[in-house]
Amino acid sequence: MKTLIIFTLIGLLFSCKESASDNTTTSVDQESDNLSSQIINSKIVDLTYDYSEETIFWVTAKEFELEEVAYGETDNGFFYSANNFCMAEHGGTHIDAPIHFAKGKQSVDEIPLKQIIGTGIKIDVSKNASKNTDYLVTINDLKQWEQQTGRIPDNSIILLYTGHSSNYPDKEKYLGTSARGTEAIKDLHFPGLSPEAAEWLTKERKVKAVGIDTPSIDYGQSSDFKSHVILLTENIPAFENVANMNQLPDTGFTIIALPIKIKGGSGGPLRIIAIL
Ligand SMILES: [Zn+2]
Repeated sequence: MKTLIIFTLIGLLFSCKESASDNTTTSVDQESDNLSSQIINSKIVDLTYDYSEETIFWVTAKEFELEEVAYGETDNGFFYSANNFCMAEHGGTHIDAPIHFAKGKQSVDEIPLKQIIGTGIKIDVSKNASKNTDYLVTINDLKQWEQQTGRIPDNSIILLYTGHSSNYPDKEKYLGTSARGTEAIKDLHFPGLSPEAAEWLTKERKVKAVGIDTPSIDYGQSSDFKSHVILLTENIPAFENVANMNQLPDTGFTIIALPIKIKGGSGGPLRIIAIL
């Protein structure tokens, strides 16, 4: 994914260099020129954790495994490196596609790109969440943000910053337990979005997606995953284990969140960036 984005950016950069010295520059070239130079000259924050043995997965999910296939000089005189990897869809920084909790809704390959690219806003609830690991983001938190910043813009991507990400990748602190398996589920403790606030976002505001810096959009002690059901039923994807939100302002950035395109997938690894 990283390679794809870099190649796209490099491609845009080179095409604009050519067009700059070319009198026959078309308006399309100028557009890409403007867009690529805007992106290149912006601060870009990577909101993605890397995948390694440390990566945090749900306690019942298959963790990340990397198997080396080749690394070194070949007999033909060139260097060659390649690996196999294996993991659950839901682990590390990832997307929950609507079908994850809503039958018949979009799978990860079906999510329209314009749904996961858009104006980002950060709602900082870290003050409240720091006092309570089981904190639930309330409607009041959302309204308070609006009082200070203005109405949540239509079609925005909402990032909920609980500050819980400061515990990553310490499993004991971040998940509430370092144990694994179904037995460990009862010991999960981390903040999430309250079902009431999820409902309010879907009914009272128009949002494209909701992200959070914890393992799940529902808090650790949830057993009915209501906020998942509410958001995903409305085809609003969730981003989980979002990294580096502390580097974002409350408003004034664009989110690009591109997941791996698994046909029929319920979610998958997500490369999410903010362009400031
Ligand atoms: Zn998930």
